[in-house]
Amino acid sequence: MKVTWDESTCIHAGKCVQGSPDVFKVEDGQFKINLDAGEESQIRTTVASCPSGALQIHEDES
Ligand code: SF4
Repeated sequence: MKVTWDESTCIHAGKCVQGSPDVFKVEDGQFKINLDAGEESQIRTTVASCPSGALQIHEDES
């Protein structure tokens, strides 16, 4: 599973960093995703809560 983030789609609602703060972070103004820092089920729940669709799960990629 891979998760991508589309900056131009993101509306900065913050659901991702609230839902999985270890996985989705803003560091030095850069949005970062670290899938190793969270449980897959929780990551899926967090991605599903993204209101804009900026976060996308890609099942076949690692
Ligand atoms: S939850 Fe979605 S819209 Fe909100 S900040 Fe994260 S990526 Fe952007």
